[in-house]
Amino acid sequence: MSIFVHIHSETEKRPGPDLVINCPACHNRDASATTYDQRIQERIWGLIPVNDTSSTWVVCTECNAILRSRVTAAKLKGKTADELSDQMYFDAGLVPKVLAMIGIVLAIFPFVGLVMAAIALFMNRKSPTWARMISVVALILSLLTSGLFGVLLVFEHFGLSK
Ligand SMILES: [Zn+2]
Repeated sequence: MSIFVHIHSETEKRPGPDLVINCPACHNRDASATTYDQRIQERIWGLIPVNDTSSTWVVCTECNAILRSRVTAAKLKGKTADELSDQMYFDAGLVPKVLAMIGIVLAIFPFVGLVMAAIALFMNRKSPTWARMISVVALILSLLTSGLFGVLLVFEHFGLSK
């Protein structure tokens, strides 16, 4: 027996002010950008609300990167490019996050983990999210394991391990 639950999703987009930003994705200074507030409401059978999320996005017109804003579009208005840099961040999506996770798992393997963590950190460098934190931790861990393994190799080489 299955119960069919229909969740009706409604996305509402409201355009905000046009801005001048320093784009963290294409590194253009004084790039023009558009903004919008987005609200996603989900209701079971269109009646019972289960999810209501609001987010604000800044779109760079130079490279079309979509940047997440920490504040609503109305609050971005009239700010200089430098001030705006603190208000928005580049969420690179799923792949760098997955790489960060793999990086931390592989950190126990010398050298392989080091390479993986370095790639993950490189891909997460622009997004100040947990993924970058994990990448940094993975890099430190893999530096330790690689260093330890390196020392062991040296010991082995000089026959000091017996
Ligand atoms: Zn850009």
